[in-house]
Amino acid sequence: MAGGEFALIEQLRSRLGKAGKGVRLGIGDDAAWLDPAGRQLVATMDTLVGDRHFFPDVRPYDLAWKALAVNLSDLAAMGAEARWCLLSLALPLRAAGYGAWMEDFMAGWSALAERYGVTLAGGDTVSTDGPLTLSITALGLVDQCVMRRDTAQPGDMVWVTGSLGDAAAALDFALVERGQEGQSFPCSVAQREALEARRLRPTPRLEFGEAAAACGVCCAMDCSDGFLADLSHILEASGVHAQIALDALPLSRELMDLAGEDPERWQRWPLTGGDDYELILCAPATLSAALQRVAAALSLRLTAVGSILSPNPNGQVAVTLTWRDQSLSLPSSWGHVHAL
Ligand code: ADP
Ligand code: MG
Repeated sequence: MAGGEFALIEQLRSRLGKAGKGVRLGIGDDAAWLDPAGRQLVATMDTLVGDRHFFPDVRPYDLAWKALAVNLSDLAAMGAEARWCLLSLALPLRAAGYGAWMEDFMAGWSALAERYGVTLAGGDTVSTDGPLTLSITALGLVDQCVMRRDTAQPGDMVWVTGSLGDAAAALDFALVERGQEGQSFPCSVAQREALEARRLRPTPRLEFGEAAAACGVCCAMDCSDGFLADLSHILEASGVHAQIALDALPLSRELMDLAGEDPERWQRWPLTGGDDYELILCAPATLSAALQRVAAALSLRLTAVGSILSPNPNGQVAVTLTWRDQSLSLPSSWGHVHAL
């Protein structure tokens, strides 16, 4: 990237790398020097590859937002306060350069980063012959209770924040629009915009995650590959099974209008569709009132969708699904599968 690389890093430094809490040395030296001030550090990394994880025509603003949001969502699921990020950018050479692209990218990044006080502390910038690829490492701090996947207990309730399925419905729409395989459905402009906003700019539930951990919740994960797929990770790690009421899953007004009373659509979007970035929590019913108070203070919906049952005698991960109190067989696909 030669000269362009340093100009680009300088742009990132001056716009996104301003001194942040606990940053002793940020962008500009060989490594960032960060001070967790005696707290526990949690770290996560996610990579987005052009044409695989995002459409090549995505707005740089939305790309930056989403790349950062998916990482912050992982910190939220641990109950952490988000603090610092590292950004690796692999950019295909472009005739037009990255001036305007970078402006828009930084605007999207800072819109989210400033909301949560996250500082860009370093990274790497290279050119590539392959697709545009972004890797972000996010670092957060926790005090005592770290929420994890292997601590669900029989008798726990299962809760979900916000609403599920909007992004998956928007993806169906976007795929059909691009002539790719997806389910088509009639949709007004206003509905489409609401769903698309959820797909492009998910909200990491950081405040809620931190507050839930402080309330004593010790089992959570974020929902990125589909509710059923992600819940099954909790069940497997904890050696338990669960009963879930499909009709209890929280839907936005827009998705409710589109899904109606059709259990197939409920299975396709909120149950197994991906990219929600909501939190799934498992915790005893005694925490219910405290969690609802936290959610109300954040104007966030928190919905009980089922319960954790005793360990399955045959050792297999199992979910019992109901629809209007009748049992319903599980769909063949539980969510997004990472092909490798
Ligand atoms: P080195 O060659 O020592 O690895 P670089 O020239 O790659 O250093 O990077 C110089 C500084 O710029 C480092 O502090 C690095 O963390 C930062 N940096 C490089 N690329 C990015 C990026 N995409 N985002 C944030 N910081 C970056
Ligand atoms: Mg160096």
